[in-house]
Amino acid sequence: MIAGSASAIAAAVRSGDRSAVEVLEEHLARVGRHEADIHAFNLVLEDQARAQAAAVDQAVAAGRDPGPLAGVPVALKDNLCTRGIPTTCSSRILEGWKPPYSATVVERLAGAGAVFVGKTNLDEFAMGSSTENSAFGPTANPHDLSRVPGGSSGGSAAAVAAGFAPLALGSDTGGSIRQPAALCGVVGAKPTYGLVSRYGLIAFASSLDQIGPFALDVADAALLLDVMAGPDPCDSTCLADPPPGARARLAGGVEGLRVGVVRELANAEGLAPEVQGRLDDAAASLSAAGAKVDEVSVPAAVYGLSAYYLIAPAEASSNLARYDGVRYGLRAGRAAGTGADPTDILAMYTDTRSAGFGAEVKRRIMLGTYALSAGYYDAYYGKAQQVRTLMVRDFDAAYRDFDVLLAPTAPGTAFELGAKTADPLTMYLNDVCTIPSNLVGHPAISVPFGTGADGLPLGVQVLAPALGETVMFQVAAVLEAAAPPTPASPMRGEAR
Ligand code: GLN
Repeated sequence: MIAGSASAIAAAVRSGDRSAVEVLEEHLARVGRHEADIHAFNLVLEDQARAQAAAVDQAVAAGRDPGPLAGVPVALKDNLCTRGIPTTCSSRILEGWKPPYSATVVERLAGAGAVFVGKTNLDEFAMGSSTENSAFGPTANPHDLSRVPGGSSGGSAAAVAAGFAPLALGSDTGGSIRQPAALCGVVGAKPTYGLVSRYGLIAFASSLDQIGPFALDVADAALLLDVMAGPDPCDSTCLADPPPGARARLAGGVEGLRVGVVRELANAEGLAPEVQGRLDDAAASLSAAGAKVDEVSVPAAVYGLSAYYLIAPAEASSNLARYDGVRYGLRAGRAAGTGADPTDILAMYTDTRSAGFGAEVKRRIMLGTYALSAGYYDAYYGKAQQVRTLMVRDFDAAYRDFDVLLAPTAPGTAFELGAKTADPLTMYLNDVCTIPSNLVGHPAISVPFGTGADGLPLGVQVLAPALGETVMFQVAAVLEAAAPPTPASPMRGEAR
């Protein structure tokens, strides 16, 4: 257990060795010192967090067990609904909106004793890889303030890396948990599609979105996932009968397990040579620990990025149609007094959506609408869905010979703020190694594995078949133990 980990905090709070209030104040103090530099949060929930922490301490004092996350500060991505608390998706279009209910995961965490520190910054509607698409300004990487934290869950990754909270929730549609986890030197996992309820997660691309954990180590990520996972009558895509938990075999080792290094991802376009070097080291360390490591081909994986950028925008264009100025947040034009004809509802829609959405969201809506339009549907959206089926077949074939697969997480370490904002395609290439798991609905985890030449963190991914969380975390724990040391960020380091 590392110092300040969620497991350590929960154990100390449950046994009465530490108070939840004291734990919270320590984290809030760090937020106070460094949040102005990092901008991890859209909203810090000081008062609510203090009340939650006090309630946890009262439960302990009264001899009740507050739960497995007793007194653990948790940061929530700001696309998760929190009842009565602004939830913005980092978009102007939701400004001022307060959800009438909380996401199921939020309720589950609260029920397990967690304390919510704040709502974290993201790329608007989770579209992006750097958190620079937020309407409220970017988040900085705690390891180097001139760099991006990755995205879209950059605020959550930065919050954990900076020591603002040992745990955070993110959502992953094409890599938005794993890529920022890698760039910030923390652990991040995307669960199997359907393992975690998405009730109360504001939808981006519904056939791909999953909620997952950020943590300081693999054991903490497993702890958080096990608290979140499980059936929910409010989400019909949520599986009724989840398998054994992520923590079931954390100390199981890899003796005899078959590990396949995905050739197409290990050699993906634009990978830094140091990324390949670290992947080789990771493979060698698993082999040294007793796994049978070999290369495997997943041919259709090379089409992942192209298929994703048809399917995800298509679904987004449909999901985002609900922001019309009538039901949520912003209404521009008539209400804003621009002089538009108050009876012209089309003008109100246009004004609201023009003012409320940022450039990347508009780009996705246009791409998606085009891909779905009559005459192009079969050629674009239909074709992308066929590619998706091919990918499922290729991964299924790989898992006949291997228990888990290994791949890089991101093509390089954290890049400079502003370096990729001018060229959307360069930005999209960040997700080339993470997208395939979303398209096939399988779980994947990013584990910190050393640093690049610039001294910044790098991550390696373990991929597993659907509902293979147990073996995935089992392998991740071995990788973590074998990994070269990843330095803590200066903010978190100071607390040790
Ligand atoms: N970066 C990818 C995108 O822009 C993935 C985002 C995500 O997983 N939410 O779509």
